[in-house]
Amino acid sequence: MGIMNTRQQSKVIYSWYGKPMSSDRKLRTSKYRGILITSESSRTENCIQLGEFILVEGENADEPFVAQLLDLYEDGAQEKHAVVQWFSHITEVPPNKRKLLKREVSPQEVFFDQVPGFDTDIAVETIIKSTMVCTAAPLHVEGRNGTNLKSIIEQCSSNKKGGETESVVQSATKPKPVELQIESKHSASKSSLAKERHSQRVANGIKTPTARKKLQLNSTYMAIFCLFGSFECNMFCVSSFCGVQTMVIFNISIFIHSVVCVYLKLFISVSHSILNALEFNKEEESSSSSHSSCSSSSEEEENDEICTPKKKTKLSRPVSTPKSSRKSSVHTPARTPKKTPLPGTPKTPRNATPEIPRRKHATQKPASVLEEARLRLHVSAVPESLPCREEEFQDIYNFVESKLIDGTGGCMYISGVPGTGKTATVREVIRCLQQAAENDELPAFHFLEVNGMKLTDPHQAYVQILELLTGQKVTATHAAVLLAKLFNTPGPKRKTTVLVVDELDLLWTRKQNVMYNLFDWPTQKHSKLIILAIANTMDLPERIMMNRVASRLGLTRMSFQPYTYKQLQQIISSRLNNVKAFEEDAIQLVSRKVAALSGDARRCLDICRRATEICEFDSQKGAPEIVRMAHVTEAIDEMFSSPYVNAIRNASLHEKNFLRAILAEFRRAGVEEATVQQVYHHQVALCRMEGIPGPTVSEVMAICSRLGAHRLLLVEASAKYLELRVRLNVSQDDVMYALKDE
Ligand code: ATP
Ligand code: MG
Repeated sequence: MGIMNTRQQSKVIYSWYGKPMSSDRKLRTSKYRGILITSESSRTENCIQLGEFILVEGENADEPFVAQLLDLYEDGAQEKHAVVQWFSHITEVPPNKRKLLKREVSPQEVFFDQVPGFDTDIAVETIIKSTMVCTAAPLHVEGRNGTNLKSIIEQCSSNKKGGETESVVQSATKPKPVELQIESKHSASKSSLAKERHSQRVANGIKTPTARKKLQLNSTYMAIFCLFGSFECNMFCVSSFCGVQTMVIFNISIFIHSVVCVYLKLFISVSHSILNALEFNKEEESSSSSHSSCSSSSEEEENDEICTPKKKTKLSRPVSTPKSSRKSSVHTPARTPKKTPLPGTPKTPRNATPEIPRRKHATQKPASVLEEARLRLHVSAVPESLPCREEEFQDIYNFVESKLIDGTGGCMYISGVPGTGKTATVREVIRCLQQAAENDELPAFHFLEVNGMKLTDPHQAYVQILELLTGQKVTATHAAVLLAKLFNTPGPKRKTTVLVVDELDLLWTRKQNVMYNLFDWPTQKHSKLIILAIANTMDLPERIMMNRVASRLGLTRMSFQPYTYKQLQQIISSRLNNVKAFEEDAIQLVSRKVAALSGDARRCLDICRRATEICEFDSQKGAPEIVRMAHVTEAIDEMFSSPYVNAIRNASLHEKNFLRAILAEFRRAGVEEATVQQVYHHQVALCRMEGIPGPTVSEVMAICSRLGAHRLLLVEASAKYLELRVRLNVSQDDVMYALKDE
């Protein structure tokens, strides 16, 4: 029975080619030599066999991945799997490794890819079709001290004793030369290149590539590859097209899992000069060519026969993996995605105070201590460190790091009242992770950020995420469908996506679909999506889920507590960084005032900055001074004594209680909007506690319209009676400050 696929609206059926080659009764798996892809619309049948190169579905329909088919098997659940070796386009190669190539790379070139973290076990339905690749010659490597390929080979051979490949590898990887150069030989003439390679062989005692010699080459190339590994470069770049001789080398390269550069046949046309060079090489290397055709197993010829006839030139014929190598590369079929552990333990900044990178260019020097303090205290200034958030930083870092290493998805829900450093801490975590990925300590990942405050409508979140991820611009409904599909389908080579959703509270919709999807996508088996959701409300997930099962989502939670006065003191001192602009008592006063109200670092910094401004103004009149208690008190009064605060202070008892009830409802709901009915419930409870008679419904409606007329509240225009929606037109801090001493 075949599997249906609806690629490009046409039915594609995948069925095995031939009978099983072998079966494992215990695992209930069967291996096959080929797969038939039948397209119902075009009525074509394509047979792909082991060893052939294939195109695999990518994130983008126009950019399929390239791989070589190593194994085909059916598991116990009768699902069809393929085990592949990935080849990367230059765009998939990390920029720091691209630099090592030191040459222009055509978009058609692909590189043997040993980057850990990609699944090599894929569903056959992701295979689009077979493709042809042509191999190019291995590169010439030149070390800092003139060490070239030959000398590396010699060095490795002399180190090697009786097949102790691993010890050779280790000895080769230990010293870490920094400036190994990889030189392209594109310009070299074919004949000189052939001669050079011939002389390299002679230097290694390789006269004719016999099986034994292959073994020698095998270990030598392995050592060379590991030398590359020592430079954290998993590519082996190849200089130019070079006929049959290259084929032999390529055969060996594949055999030993070395690295080759291949060209996609789909996109290239082989130029006459290359073909001429090929002819030349063919003549010169006729003996090795005849051997190469011998070395390609009879099985390969057999494959050629059974396949749908395809015209293959010798150059473009896909290289079949020799039997022995196939054995070594056969993966034990497993249904669970394979995790490739990273070499060594990841270097995470344990117990480190998160730091923020320094500026490249020095800013204009501030004229006075007070001016410097004012600039340092601005909320938009990037602090050098985030004191008092070390634990939270470490927990978030560990969460994302472990998911990245496992190649899985997950969601962390981060909540806390405003100004508790949620955004600042998450940004710092991402910066450290990006740095670790750049240094190859972690697998590379896509980073996206969406802010509920910046979206015109919650559904725009879908549009923005899709655009950031794939560059596609579509409507919100379509984007939601595409994203759900993307996170639900296996994307074996897809990088993990780290998505930060800030101000999540604002993505509130009537059906809660946006928030629900954000919590749901990371739980999908193939999502490879890590979400860091930041919100002010603690129990938002529970309220979104309502009748959906919240526990299924397995959210990891983190709550940022309001800062205590000591922490706020530490934050201000660390921001000032030894700039002696404040009296110690003045800092303590601000910290205590803010900690008693909200524990909001933003508010604390604002007051300090305003106090500095007042002090600067005073200094202009007389002798220069530093910020004292008087300046801070003036700043606090100024900040909180707005006409609004005065209006609240002079309001009636029921009006004040109505405002208290609004604060209580906002805190309960986590949304800064409520109906009069919801507020009324709180007000009645408050009056009961105070032992005073509660207002009637019509009195509450009158209170509401009076506060609305004073612009302390924003009241909905329509007359919905108790269903009327209200919002505060002043900050919650101001209301609390005004009502505090009552
Ligand atoms: P909101 O919920 O309103 O988005 P938030 O919790 O995301 O608030 P941030 O934006 O991270 O708060 O922080 C507010 C301001 O306070 C920023 O300028 C930030 O630099 C500063 N800040 C917060 N915590 C610290 C800290 N531990 N050290 C230094 N500065 C801090
Ligand atoms: Mg924030």
